[in-house]
Amino acid sequence: MSDASHDNLFDVAVIGGGLAGLSLAIQMADQGARAIVFEKQTYPFHKVCGEYVSMESWDFLKRLGLPLDTWELPRITRLNISSASGNTLSRELPLGGFGVSRHRLDHALAELARTRGVTVLESCRVDDVSYVEDYLTIETGLGTFRARVVAGAFGKRSNLDRKLKRQYQATVHAPEVNYVGVKYHVEADIPPDLIELHSFRDGYCGISRIEEGKSCMCYLTAAHNLREFRGNIRKMEENVLAQNPFLSEYFHKNRFLFPEPVTVSQVRIGSKPAVDNHIMMIGDAAGFVAPLSGNGMSMALRSAYLLSGPLQEFLDGRINRMQLEHQHATMWRRHFGMRIRFSRYLQRILGRECLTETAISALNLFPFAVKPMVRMTHGRPF
Ligand SMILES: Cc1cc2nc3c(=O)[nH]c(=O)nc-3n(C[C@H](O)[C@H](O)[C@H](O)COP(=O)(O)OP(=O)(O)OC[C@H]3O[C@@H](n4cnc5c(N)ncnc54)[C@H](O)[C@@H]3O)c2cc1C
Repeated sequence: MSDASHDNLFDVAVIGGGLAGLSLAIQMADQGARAIVFEKQTYPFHKVCGEYVSMESWDFLKRLGLPLDTWELPRITRLNISSASGNTLSRELPLGGFGVSRHRLDHALAELARTRGVTVLESCRVDDVSYVEDYLTIETGLGTFRARVVAGAFGKRSNLDRKLKRQYQATVHAPEVNYVGVKYHVEADIPPDLIELHSFRDGYCGISRIEEGKSCMCYLTAAHNLREFRGNIRKMEENVLAQNPFLSEYFHKNRFLFPEPVTVSQVRIGSKPAVDNHIMMIGDAAGFVAPLSGNGMSMALRSAYLLSGPLQEFLDGRINRMQLEHQHATMWRRHFGMRIRFSRYLQRILGRECLTETAISALNLFPFAVKPMVRMTHGRPF
């Protein structure tokens, strides 16, 4: 395949086959659109993620066609937080969540997309997108494609950010920090209804159950922690994370199921334009929320849900491209702008030892303050 022929012409092209991209493609195919997804990796694959999915997206995933009820997934309804010194806070989670690995979830969605008629191209990286005569041209390792509309669902960090010269929208009050994410699957002695969040110097680690009795242990740390140990993850874990007595115990007692952790670097929390180069951005590609809010996956799914309506109107000729782009940018700001800003403040608190100590003591004294904070980071079921 080299040139865009009729076979390479689609109504909707989606760059990135994660939760946002696959769920959008399924919805559009269900509405009769010719949809294609480009994913640079090969399913199934692991991804750095805490794998706690807020219940707000349970119904949506089931409506898409995932038989979640039959997967026997742990339902998570309680949260324990600890500071680096071992000071703790325990709370019920008003809505709660469920645990499932990305290895399983993304793969199942990709399979579902195929059964609905979506063309899913794996091991296919998109290198460039350009807008010519009201169509978008997509350059990939497997050839050139054209589409009436392109959704950017390529996650928080992609070659396309640089190619398209995308800008982070930094907030004055929360300076940019680069983070590193690390994930393991472990066998751990943790109740299925509990998620734990253990903080350490300039970072925090979540642990909760996923399928088949396994647990996901995943942390985010400021990149300078890793630089201090010259990129040696084990040394950083021994010297920084293990200062927290809970994490020390986990690192000694858990059975680690991967030979090496899954990692991601150069993670930044904040927003990027929701529409860039006529590409409609969804999920992390439009804004990355601090993982401690436990909600990036639901935001990705919700953004795909919210875009599907206007996209269909555009394909039906009921709105033009300018109206589509305007509606999408407005939707993004209204639904997610505040959540991302608030999550950055939370990130600053839980990322710093002394602030975490103070916050845990204060929240133990004023427990009623926890619920509104959880509400600020979560949405209603959709
Ligand atoms: C440490 C950490 C812990 C987290 N914990 C949680 C949690 O417990 N709960 C929660 O809800 N969220 C959590 N998140 C956030 C969550 O992982 C993301 O918000 C979610 O994955 C976003 O989904 P997405 O579809 O937008 O992007 P992704 O899932 O990242 O998918 C993007 C896809 O695009 C592909 N891609 C990129 N560039 C290209 C290209 N040029 N061509 C083709 N394909 C491309 C990638 O391979 C990838 O598969 C966590 C994140 C981190 C870093």
